[in-house]
Amino acid sequence: MVDLIEQERTRFEVLRRRIYRAVGAIGVLVVLYAQYTFLDPGAAYSYLERAIYALNHILLAGFSVVVLWQLARRSVPIERLEQRMLLFFIFQSLIFNSILPAAFNTPPEEVLRGAIGDDTWFLLVCCVLAFHLYADLRGVLIALGVYSLSFTIVIAQVVSWNVQDRDQGYGALIIQTYAMAGMLLGFMLILASYRNRIIRLQTEYAMLAVTAYTDTLTGLPNRRQLYSELNALITSVKGNGPPFCLCLFDLDHFKQINDHHGHLVGDQVLMAVAQTVCEQLRATDRVARWGGEEYAILLPHTTPLQALEAIERTRAALKTIVVPGVTHITASFGLAAYQPDDSSETLLHRADENLYAAKRAGRDRIVSDVRSVRQPPDRPGSRAAGRGIAPEPQSAGSGHSAG
Ligand code: GH3
Ligand code: MG
Ligand code: MG
Repeated sequence: MVDLIEQERTRFEVLRRRIYRAVGAIGVLVVLYAQYTFLDPGAAYSYLERAIYALNHILLAGFSVVVLWQLARRSVPIERLEQRMLLFFIFQSLIFNSILPAAFNTPPEEVLRGAIGDDTWFLLVCCVLAFHLYADLRGVLIALGVYSLSFTIVIAQVVSWNVQDRDQGYGALIIQTYAMAGMLLGFMLILASYRNRIIRLQTEYAMLAVTAYTDTLTGLPNRRQLYSELNALITSVKGNGPPFCLCLFDLDHFKQINDHHGHLVGDQVLMAVAQTVCEQLRATDRVARWGGEEYAILLPHTTPLQALEAIERTRAALKTIVVPGVTHITASFGLAAYQPDDSSETLLHRADENLYAAKRAGRDRIVSDVRSVRQPPDRPGSRAAGRGIAPEPQSAGSGHSAG
């Protein structure tokens, strides 16, 4: 789950870098073209205006080149770069698109051209960046703040044109353009905040689900999770599906570990057992904490013989666990193979019976119940030939029970 989120984040970052590179490169060309049109000697701009527009273009092109360079070198984290972009765009938009035109009493038709051409779009870009960077109230406040400031300046300009009687009908068009941009912004705000809320609820629900189905100490699936997976597996193999097995195992004399070394060491053993068992099994096998010092293993697509091999490997691996002060960790295993008329209860019941048979027979062993399951012909003396409890372990202190 965490890996998946990380993967998605990386993919999103790669996508943003690509977008910024493309937009940056196009931006430089657009700015150069805009500067070229301002060089037209026929245009009615004062020297001061020409100087200010040139400064604006130099700043825009310079900033774009710096961003492109930093993207290429990957020298700055993408979020930091985006924060700089947001700051620069807000500064650029307010100074060059709102404050300076008002201060220089730019003619209404020029302001309208600017509003339609790039000013309102630029404003929207700032707001989208703010949303993206701060997916909370800060994003909303920055977006609304920048938009309201620009709109207020424009309204003040239009009012002053009307007072001076030089509006020529452009004021209404300009206000209409800004109002449309504002409506788009408001619509985006509402959609974005709802989407955020839904994503937050989904995340909380997913986390709750993970907690409800996971054992907090070992990180393994818990009893509830394995039980539902077992039921699903039984439903899927009903009839003539592939064989599968279920194993319950319980640590031997675990209470003594707690009593002699304390609960914290006991917990360490429980965690080490979980890890060791998982390492011995295939990725498709499911290990769960069944409760206390008892675990369950679900082995899909596994014949009883294969299951017995895997469980034997697991039983041997438990003995290699090293937890300071604790030696020789062993467990007793009850293995049951699924039979066509089994329900989860009957299968679990057989695994449980076998587990307690293993305990009664002296612990540190596997008792398997595979008598009535179709399997390759047993070799004489095969370990998985049937259920029964060996009068003596096959090797000192350990072994399978076999018929
Ligand atoms: P047996 O070989 O018959 O299974 O003996 P045992 O001592 O393992 O069995 P018993 O049921 O008497 O003791 C189980 C112990 O496991 C008792 C309980 O305190 C301990 N236990 C259960 N859950 C946890 C846990 O999460 N952490 C720790 N440290 N101990 C636990
Ligand atoms: Mg025990
Ligand atoms: Mg127990």
